[in-house]
Amino acid sequence: MDDTIKIRILASGSKGNSAFVRVGDTRLLIDAGISCRRIVHGLRDIDESPEDLDAVLLTHEHSDHVKGMRVFLNNYPETHVFSTRGTLVGCEERFPMPQNWTPIAADGPFRVGEVTVDPFELLHDASEPTGFRLDASGFSMGFVTDLGYWTDEIAEHLLGCRVLVVEANHDPHMLRTGPYPAFLKRRIASSRGHLSNEQARALVSRIAHPELEWLVLAHLSEKNNAPELAIDEISPALPTGDTNIIAASKEPGQPIELAPSELPPSTRPVKQGVLF
Ligand SMILES: [Zn+2]
Ligand SMILES: [Zn+2]
Repeated sequence: MDDTIKIRILASGSKGNSAFVRVGDTRLLIDAGISCRRIVHGLRDIDESPEDLDAVLLTHEHSDHVKGMRVFLNNYPETHVFSTRGTLVGCEERFPMPQNWTPIAADGPFRVGEVTVDPFELLHDASEPTGFRLDASGFSMGFVTDLGYWTDEIAEHLLGCRVLVVEANHDPHMLRTGPYPAFLKRRIASSRGHLSNEQARALVSRIAHPELEWLVLAHLSEKNNAPELAIDEISPALPTGDTNIIAASKEPGQPIELAPSELPPSTRPVKQGVLF
């Protein structure tokens, strides 16, 4: 069995979001909020291809997460798409009903190949947005962006992961004094907006552990944050200096490769969902 574990953030931020995750022979794309051409390029660059994706998982319907879907589904119509019903309804105007779509629900884990995907509810101004936890033999990853604040329930879904992708959208002071109009500032800072560096730091201090290998700060605002600032602010929340911490940007990131782990397969139960 192939034991490759490879992650690449293809783009992150308010202009577009997409991430590729490969665990063995299972290949997933989380969100498609950049052009199809950029997605394909970002995959081919690391010797992967869109035809080989087992699933596209959508977090929510905002354009910076789905705007590549129309062309992507046009070019690769057999792509299997997983999202909540709320997300699909929210996408009605953006792309036609996918040929292969599976409805998912928060706290309804499902399998895609070797990976158990556990979607969980987020607080954001979208219809049924979700974060994802991915578990496979010796691998676990939490993916959480686009949330106004975090709860104990969200934190519990992110415990014990080898890789965490966590939103660090804005510095509250930069947001307050920055160029955005007042309504947008209010929206971003609201309980259904985006996580600040401070909120991300509190979340990371709750969920980080000595075996956390990568912390990827995501969805950074170009106007209201800076990569060095977010890293400086959040890295003290890591219990050891052994965790790699990086800030994702609108450009494709360096692929992250993980060594196969000796850890036993995840024991998180699959309560319901699709097996194929
Ligand atoms: Zn977003
Ligand atoms: Zn959003």
